[in-house]
Amino acid sequence: MESGTCHTPITKQSAPSLVSLESNPGRTVIEINGVKIGGNEIVVMAGPCAIESLEQLSETARIVKSGGATILRGGAYKPRTSPYSFQGLKEEGLDLLDKVKSITGLPVVTEVMDTRQVEAVAGYADILQIGSRNMQNFPLLEEAGNCNVPILLKRGMMATLDEYLHAAEYILARGNSSVILCERGIRTFEPSTRYTLDLNAIPVLKQRTHLPVIVDPSHGTGYRDLVPTMSKAAVAAGADGLLLEVHYHPEHALCDGPQSLFPEDFIKMMDDLRKVAEAVGRSIHLPE
Ligand code: PEP
Ligand code: MN
Repeated sequence: MESGTCHTPITKQSAPSLVSLESNPGRTVIEINGVKIGGNEIVVMAGPCAIESLEQLSETARIVKSGGATILRGGAYKPRTSPYSFQGLKEEGLDLLDKVKSITGLPVVTEVMDTRQVEAVAGYADILQIGSRNMQNFPLLEEAGNCNVPILLKRGMMATLDEYLHAAEYILARGNSSVILCERGIRTFEPSTRYTLDLNAIPVLKQRTHLPVIVDPSHGTGYRDLVPTMSKAAVAAGADGLLLEVHYHPEHALCDGPQSLFPEDFIKMMDDLRKVAEAVGRSIHLPE
């Protein structure tokens, strides 16, 4: 310790073997239809929280593509706190996702909640999302590890980064090394926002793992007016991408309307984001 300081440095924890930076100092870059996640370009994945109709999904997809998103998000299976809330369109939602994927040419990311759905959802998804509530669903992690589709693994809202990296290790240990990590906010004592977006996670994960790290400021804040600021902060802190909720009419959204960006907010935010990316020596990957 330097003389004159009174803090004890925190020992850097190492990560489990397959996810550790030492095991792949070159870092993992995951390529999906020409979109590279984990490289120098920042990838924006955007779309509605839940797929609601062909019109809602296709119109929202058109808007996010025009703003510069290169991956479309949308949930067909939704993990809701209340069993009486909209649970997603399920198989019908997957069909709509497939239609909109062929209309727009955008690859898609969608959530899988159950081991029994993995094979079917993997048939539609370019990236399978495992949500915060399932980060330590070990059978689901193993099933994700058995398939050959990239996995977007969200951080558990009450998980430490060490637990998070061990969850990712389950997927790699089964043979699937295409894992994208996503910081989406954790539970703290602070009630002003839906969760506390832990931007510390970005540099800490970058020190410990070779996997790409993206940030979800929509769930991380819970309020659309905070999303542009926290998106810029995430890019400045070294995130490889963003996962954003955008809805063509957020006031009518069946899920997470208050945190979903209006189309014009998204377009404006993307403009600002480009400048922040340039300032940190990166750029935003744009649609063809
Ligand atoms: C989502 O992305 O729609 C979602 C449910 O996220 P999380 O698992 O982070 O709550
Ligand atoms: Mn949501």
